[in-house]
Amino acid sequence: ATLLLTVALPATAQKTKPLDAAAIEQRITGLLQQMTLEEKVGQLNQYSGREVTGPASNRKTDLLNSIRSGQVGSMLNVKGVADTRAIQAEALKSRLKIPLLFSLDVIHGYQTVFPIPLGEAASWDMAAIRESAHVAAREASASGIHWTFAPMVDVGRDPRWGRVMEGAGEDTYLGSQIARARVLGFQGEKLGGTDAIMACAKHFAAYGAALAGRDYNVVDMSEQQLWEVYLPPFKAAADAGVATFMNSFNTLNGVPATGSSYLQRDILKGQWNYPGFVVSDWGSIAEMVPWGYARDKADAAQKALAAGSDMDMESDAYHTTLAQLVKAGQSDEKQLDDAVRRILRKKFELGLFDDPYKFSDLKREKKVLNDPQHCVAARDAARKSIVLLENRNNTLPLAQPRSIAVIGPLAKAKRDLAGSWIVLADTTQITSLHDGLTKRAGKNTQIRYAKGCEVEGSSRTGFAAAIETAKTADVVVLAVGETWDMSGEAKSRTDIHLPGVQEELFQALKATGKPIVVVLMAGRPLIFNAIADQADAVLYGWFPGSEGGAALADVLFGDYNPGGKLPSTFPRNMGQIPLNYQQYNTGRPVMKPGDIRYKSAYIDAPNTPRYAFGHGLSYTTFKYDGLKIDKASLTAGQSTQVQLTVTNTGKVAGEEVVQLYLRDLVASVARPLKELKDFQKLNLRPGETKTVTFTLTPDKLAFYNRQLQWAAEPGEFQVMLGSASDDIRLESRLTLLP
Ligand code: BGC
Repeated sequence: ATLLLTVALPATAQKTKPLDAAAIEQRITGLLQQMTLEEKVGQLNQYSGREVTGPASNRKTDLLNSIRSGQVGSMLNVKGVADTRAIQAEALKSRLKIPLLFSLDVIHGYQTVFPIPLGEAASWDMAAIRESAHVAAREASASGIHWTFAPMVDVGRDPRWGRVMEGAGEDTYLGSQIARARVLGFQGEKLGGTDAIMACAKHFAAYGAALAGRDYNVVDMSEQQLWEVYLPPFKAAADAGVATFMNSFNTLNGVPATGSSYLQRDILKGQWNYPGFVVSDWGSIAEMVPWGYARDKADAAQKALAAGSDMDMESDAYHTTLAQLVKAGQSDEKQLDDAVRRILRKKFELGLFDDPYKFSDLKREKKVLNDPQHCVAARDAARKSIVLLENRNNTLPLAQPRSIAVIGPLAKAKRDLAGSWIVLADTTQITSLHDGLTKRAGKNTQIRYAKGCEVEGSSRTGFAAAIETAKTADVVVLAVGETWDMSGEAKSRTDIHLPGVQEELFQALKATGKPIVVVLMAGRPLIFNAIADQADAVLYGWFPGSEGGAALADVLFGDYNPGGKLPSTFPRNMGQIPLNYQQYNTGRPVMKPGDIRYKSAYIDAPNTPRYAFGHGLSYTTFKYDGLKIDKASLTAGQSTQVQLTVTNTGKVAGEEVVQLYLRDLVASVARPLKELKDFQKLNLRPGETKTVTFTLTPDKLAFYNRQLQWAAEPGEFQVMLGSASDDIRLESRLTLLP
């Protein structure tokens, strides 16, 4: 590393006028003419750079040699101005001096940690989500990064899958809105601006539907499901101009996504006419060998290129075999050229040919990474992501208590609050719940602490001290959940009950008779029935990021009125999984609770979730009224307006997410009972009334029919407006005329 760091850092080049699209294509054509076959393949190779900036090793020597000879197009996991500039300088020693792309998983913040993506999704706040991605991009770009592997836009309907934490939840419409907000946040309106980096829509496609929540596994799915549920967030990202796509590890109906020309060539680059490039997932080209889809690396490389995978992340398959395959006529040089063109196009659009050190210098890095405004944004995002699940007897907000017992394995946790996928190295700066409460409570409120137990394990030896601590306080705030590494990649679980003896600790504390507010922090929906039934209040904080403790204190004390709504269904038990709000009316509906004979139901538990999609309480109440549909009968192609009023009927200001659901009553394909089609987030003062207007376009009535055409069919639709998928307040009908 020391050797590399002494490389002279050239001054940032003069800003030149950005090239227009035609000029870029011309420059690429010129470059392609000069490139040898090996140099072309070189642009397709991406390697992880942990070693390249580390101590001497064979891998380091090999990588540096490859970079200097134009065999590498992109590096991942090299970050920071000093290191990225040093490695870029090596690339500029190559014959054609084509700059490298530096990429990294900037998933929910870079230096400043924002809530995990699933948490941010609970805000239903597109401006806040966009701002979060923008701040992350600003910090990463100042630190030499050009490209993040985010957003993950996989719809996730199985909480056993550890990567639900990285997505936007179970719903396609909400997920598509969030995909767009995140792409625009990372990239800005146009590539090449300061404070912006390329985004990557991943994992194409259907990765979230892996069998039984097992990461990397098989997906067998109807075309209908694929097009209707799993592809739209990718299309939304493409429409928002996302610079890159990442393919995925799973098979889709028998074919590894990485080798799927149906996904990458027919749909993405064909029907969607996508101009960006596709990077493989880590080693996924070579993984087609163990899948039994390719004989060896060469066969895998041949299949991946033919299928439209442009860049090879870490398989070393293209590097070692592709030039030979082209020479032997087994791979198509035109397809190789197309992949190179797509990658070079992004390098030009980013402006890297004008200034390969773009965005990064030590001064700017220091300044941007320490911008106090970023903490403000992270706290705002965290507050907006918190969901109030229960609030019995208006236990919250806390009236200035004389003493609070802060109990639980996550009460003083710092690292856990950041969740999986963080870049931040020093996690001691994270505000724990205990820190946040202590700071907010002030001199007149005593904060007492006991850990009680660990997140995992069966030891109850800490219970006694926790009970004593609870007895001395006016109120207990109990912080329980998952540790940060229980969710994320390769963190599938067969059991999503609150781990260990944490719920027993809750019951032991409950026996003291003190009011108990439970703060749950986790990367996925958990099951915690005793807490849900008996706690005085329950807040779901997800993993709230570096300002999480402060944000939770804001909510607990009522400085901020929570408005988060669940982006995922919370099941009652493991056997219900997968469960989401888009249920169907079978011929065997459940007529009333308890009536379960010969119905489409379990005989040992209800069909309903513990908490429904869209659920989230507030410290105030909202009244829905005056539903008006401008045209109750529509002819094909017409739109109509749906109007209602919402009034804050409580004593404090608050945010409400007004949700519009539709049901197509009779169609050529059986339709779900509810589908989210639109929403608006309102901020209302006490007593204030706002009129909310939605436009129902023909598109919102459409679905994929049996021929996989997106079309609306004449007939009746039920229009539902509510505060949650299980809390519909107003209903009406709409007819689409033949
Ligand atoms: C993950 C990707 C990630 C990549 C690079 C893979 O294992 O599936 O989402 O971007 O690693 O870190």
